Amino acid sequence: MNVVVIGHGMVGSRFVEDLIAQDPHAHVTVLGREDTQPYNRVLLSSVVAGVTDPALLTMSAARGERVRVRQGIWATEIDRTARTVTDSSGTVHRYDRLVLATGSQARIPDIHGIATDRGLMPGVTVLKDLSDATGIVKRISKARRAVVLGAGVLGMEVATGLAARGLSVTLVHHAARVMERQLGDAASRIATGSLHRLGVKVVTETSVAEAIDRRGVLQAVRLTDGTQVLTDMLIMCAGTIPETSLARRAGLPCERGVLVGEDCASPVDGNVFAIGDCAQPPEGGTGLVAQGWDQAARLVAAWTGRAVARRDAEDDLTNVVRVKASGLDLVTMGLSGKCDHGERDLRAVRISDPAIGRFVEVVVSHGLLVGATIVGDKACASELSAMYTRMLPVPSDPAHLIIRPLAGMTGGVAAKSPKDMDNADTVCNCNTVTKGRIVAAIDDGCTSVDEVARATRAGTGCGDCRAVVGELIQACAADAADSGDKVPALAGRGEG
Ligand SMILES: Cc1cc2nc3c(=O)[nH]c(=O)nc-3n(C[C@H](O)[C@H](O)[C@H](O)COP(=O)(O)OP(=O)(O)OC[C@H]3O[C@@H](n4cnc5c(N)ncnc54)[C@H](O)[C@@H]3O)c2cc1C
Repeated sequence: MNVVVIGHGMVGSRFVEDLIAQDPHAHVTVLGREDTQPYNRVLLSSVVAGVTDPALLTMSAARGERVRVRQGIWATEIDRTARTVTDSSGTVHRYDRLVLATGSQARIPDIHGIATDRGLMPGVTVLKDLSDATGIVKRISKARRAVVLGAGVLGMEVATGLAARGLSVTLVHHAARVMERQLGDAASRIATGSLHRLGVKVVTETSVAEAIDRRGVLQAVRLTDGTQVLTDMLIMCAGTIPETSLARRAGLPCERGVLVGEDCASPVDGNVFAIGDCAQPPEGGTGLVAQGWDQAARLVAAWTGRAVARRDAEDDLTNVVRVKASGLDLVTMGLSGKCDHGERDLRAVRISDPAIGRFVEVVVSHGLLVGATIVGDKACASELSAMYTRMLPVPSDPAHLIIRPLAGMTGGVAAKSPKDMDNADTVCNCNTVTKGRIVAAIDDGCTSVDEVARATRAGTGCGDCRAVVGELIQACAADAADSGDKVPALAGRGEG
C-alpha cells in the first residue's frame, strides 16, 4: 500500500512512525515543508523564554527502506481522480491512501505596513515554527523593547518570556481583559497584576493598527486608540487557522478545518484522511496535540485491524489550560471564568487576594470538581489538577479544596505518593499514558525519565508529567529496595 502523508509536524511524524512500525506492507512518502526533523512545537515559547534549548526539541521519526521523507518540499496539488500529489519540485507521487497533516497557520491580523515584498517587515513575526523562535531569539540580543499582540495563552507565555530576558514588553489585547476565554474579571485582574510585577505592561481594549518603520526596520507601532509605542519587535499571537488550502483546491469539504468523520476520512473520498490541527472531526478541533496524536493512533489501528480505545469524554482533559511561563502560575480547567451565571447545580467557592497575586476558584457539581481557576499558587494548581483529571470525589465542603493545599496540609491528592494512584490513571495526558504502562516500563528496566519517555512516550508532549514519572521511578526503586526484589513492584489499584 502506497501512502502519501502531507505534513511532517508533530502529528504527521507520529502517524508515519506508528504506521511503519505496525504495518509491514505500508510504503510511505512524506512531504514536509519545513527543512527540519520533526520537533516539539509545544515548547517553542520556552525556547523564546530561554528555558529550552532548541536542539532538545527534535522528536523521533520513522526510518528505513519503506519510508521516504522529502524535507523542505511541499505539496502543491492533489489530483483525487488520478490519486496523485504533485510537490514543489514537480515530482508526482501516486497514492492508495492520502493523509493530510498540514497543521495550522498563525493568524496575521490586518495591520497597516507589516507586509513587504519579501514577507513581513523585519522585526515583525509570529511564533509558529522553529525558524520563528530562533529568529526571535536572534533579534532579542539587539532589542530593548517588544510589543506582543494578543493576551491569550501564547501571548502571555511570549510576553513573560521576553520580560524574563530583560526586554521592556507591552502586551496589547483587543478584549477588556487578558485570557478572556478562560478567566473571569477578578482572576484576569490578578493575572494582569502579576504580569506588571514581571515587567509586562498590559494595554487592553485596543489593537495594533500600524507598524512604523525606519529604513525598512520596525521602530514603533501605532495602536487603534492612536497611542504610539516604540518597539524593536512585534510578535503577533492572534490565534491559528487550520491549513486547508490544498484540501479546498482538491474539492474536499472544509469548514474551519478539513471535515472528517470519526474514522478521520473525508466524507466524499474514503482514500483521503485528515489528522491533527488541519482536521475538523465531528467533535471539533481543539488545536491541541493530544487530539492529533489520538487520531494518528486510531487511524493506524483501523488500517492494521487493531483495536485501540478511543479517548472518551472522561479522558478528554484537553480543556486544562496551563500557561507555561516562569513567575506566573496560571491554570484553568473545565468551567472557568463563567461561574457568575448562577447555574443551579454548580457551587463555586473562591478566594481572591490581589495584594499577593493569588486567585483560586473551584466549581463543584454533583460531588465532582468540574472547573477551577488558579492564579499564583503552585500547590493549589497541582492539587486541583489532580482532583480534576482523576475525577476524584470532592469533600462535602468545597472550601476544603482550596484551604487544604493553601495551608500546606498533607494528605492532599497531589501530595500523595504515586503508589496511591490507580494503574488506570492517566499520567501523560498528551499521549494518554497510564500509570500502569509507566510502571510496566520501569519493571522492564527503564531507570530514567528519558528511558520511560522512549518506551511509553510519556512526557514527550508538553512535558508537564515528567516530574510525576520521576517520582514513579523513585517510588519503584524504593519499593524494590524495601522488598529486596530485583524487579520493582509498585502496587497500584485498577488495571494498567
Ligand atoms: C508556540 C506554540 C505553543 C503551543 N503550545 C501547546 C501546548 O501547550 N499544548 C498543546 O497541546 N498544544 C500546543 N500547541 C499546538 C501544537 O503544537 C499543535 O497542536 C501540534 O503541533 C499539531 O500537530 P500537526 O502535525 O497537526 O501540525 P504541525 O505540528 O503544525 O505540523 C504541520 C506541518 O505541516 C507542514 N505543511 C503545511 N502545509 C504543507 C504542504 N502543503 N506540504 C508539506 N508540508 C506542509 C507545516 O509546515 C508543518 O511542518 C502549541 C503550538 C505553538 C505554535
